[in-house]
Amino acid sequence: MCLLISMAAAAESAGEKKRVVVIGGGVAGSVVAKSLQFCADVVLIDEKEYFEIPWGSLRAMVEPSFAERSVINHSDYLPNVRIVASTAANITEREVLTTDGHLLVYEYLVIATGHKEAVPKTRAERLSHYEAEFVKINSAKSVLIVGGGPTGVELAGEIATDFPEKKVILVHRGSRLLEFIGLKASQKALDWLISKKVEVILDETINLNTISDPIIQTPSGEIITADCHFVCTGKPTGSSWLRGTIVQNNLDMQGRLMVDENLRVRGHKNIFAVGDITNIKEIKQGYLAQRHAEVTAKNLKLLLMGGNESKMATYKPGLDIALVSLGRNEGVAQFPLLTISGCIPGMIKSGDLYVGKTRKHLGLKP
Ligand SMILES: Cc1cc2nc3c(=O)[nH]c(=O)nc-3n(C[C@H](O)[C@H](O)[C@H](O)COP(=O)(O)OP(=O)(O)OC[C@H]3O[C@@H](n4cnc5c(N)ncnc54)[C@H](O)[C@@H]3O)c2cc1C
Repeated sequence: MCLLISMAAAAESAGEKKRVVVIGGGVAGSVVAKSLQFCADVVLIDEKEYFEIPWGSLRAMVEPSFAERSVINHSDYLPNVRIVASTAANITEREVLTTDGHLLVYEYLVIATGHKEAVPKTRAERLSHYEAEFVKINSAKSVLIVGGGPTGVELAGEIATDFPEKKVILVHRGSRLLEFIGLKASQKALDWLISKKVEVILDETINLNTISDPIIQTPSGEIITADCHFVCTGKPTGSSWLRGTIVQNNLDMQGRLMVDENLRVRGHKNIFAVGDITNIKEIKQGYLAQRHAEVTAKNLKLLLMGGNESKMATYKPGLDIALVSLGRNEGVAQFPLLTISGCIPGMIKSGDLYVGKTRKHLGLKP
């Protein structure tokens, strides 16, 4: 039975500072909470106790010690924020309710639940998880990766670079890899993987319900043999919990929240949304989620100080720029007028995978 940890509304609004509740401690939510922690009474609700730098996650599978820097307890960079490690289940005009019964009153709300993923709750469990993934890869002679989006391609790149003796098979149901960016980038990634002897199978589907190592038969009858497999088919948008809440009519067909140019959920003066959960027309990228967070933090600072909302900053959708790493030294980069692959994109991203830069952004040692 759900225990309702209900506190009087007045007691919830601690001190004189206004209460900002941020839901989701991913790329965008972490930046909003950090930016506001000394000018508001900030509460961060996240399903887990830590922030994980997503672009470091695949390196951590081949080098588990990498996760020591890419998995960061929220309390390490948010000393002045109350962290509630729980799942938000409902919102009203003034309150957020979590699945384990916390009821949090807010003056301003920021929804940043970009993606939903079943990951461990504590940092220690997450680090052990990476150790186990490493053991799985290290002890296999052949690895099957299901999904040819950025996660599948980057994982194939990591394994092919660190374990060139292993057979890597990448199966993708689409006709090209990296469908979120342009054809040239897809082709360059495919050429690179083939040059590293990765077997890439396109237009093929793996039934995830019946998948079992070491032999997998595809619906078209193809037999794939691999000692282990990793599913990299993309994480669902973290918005299903918003159905039935006061913002349900603001969800578009893809389950994304419709926001105005100031990043407020349409029709709600005190509710903002940031990151991949928004319906902003741009490719879903972490560096853009960070920009949403910066604009929102600026707007909230203005509102918290009693400023005029006509002075709020506006957000302009980002350009179609993306960089996918291919192992430790190479990558493929798409810019508006140019797509390149090789060691230049590798120098920009693939060495440290922006982990030092992201940590610095959170006020931590790189
Ligand atoms: C492997 C990989 C590599 C990537 N590389 C890059 C890159 O190089 N550059 C780049 O710009 N982008 C990259 N991206 C994309 C980037 O990670 C996303 O765009 C970014 O994470 C979106 O941020 P977000 O805050 O909107 O959502 P997320 O980072 O997904 O955070 C959402 C948070 O909300 C929490 N949550 C969800 N539902 C609830 C709930 N009901 N209650 C409480 N908490 C909840 C989740 O646990 C999570 O902590 C990469 C992504 C992946 C997976």
